[in-house]
Amino acid sequence: MEIAVLTLVLSLVRDPLFGSEAGVMFSRDLLWTNRISTIERTERAAFIVDEGGGNLQCLVWPATYQHARATFRGVIPRGTIAIIHTHPANAPWPSENDEREARRLGIPIYALTPLAITKAAPAKDAQLVERGPWLAPPSDRYRCKPIGSESASPATLTASSSGE
Ligand SMILES: [Zn+2]
Repeated sequence: MEIAVLTLVLSLVRDPLFGSEAGVMFSRDLLWTNRISTIERTERAAFIVDEGGGNLQCLVWPATYQHARATFRGVIPRGTIAIIHTHPANAPWPSENDEREARRLGIPIYALTPLAITKAAPAKDAQLVERGPWLAPPSDRYRCKPIGSESASPATLTASSSGE
């Protein structure tokens, strides 16, 4: 009985993405690979997709080179459980746009900076997920890959730090 209660408490506290090695390492990969963006104030974003049985993949949006935002046009992959995106180093918190998109899509949107990871969640206030330092080389086992360009019923998403 005590074990069951303890398990319940841990599952409530554990972050759905950062509670897994894959989630942590994919986030590290996106941030490390695009570390210049945290200074240049461009952003890169990726879908975290559960391909079944908790097997996670990280699919990177094509680069748009926009100031303080990243935009995706295309089909949101089946099994998407979260969006991760880099933020400028001095803007660690989700923007209002991030919070709107998290509510609209019903999935958390994580903001990655060298010293903190935060998230916008569909039904909660923005929260701190982890403190850094996060800028470290990732493991070869977990590499984000570019998303395919098929687009049968396009959706437009914007992840940003500018709040627009
Ligand atoms: Zn953002």
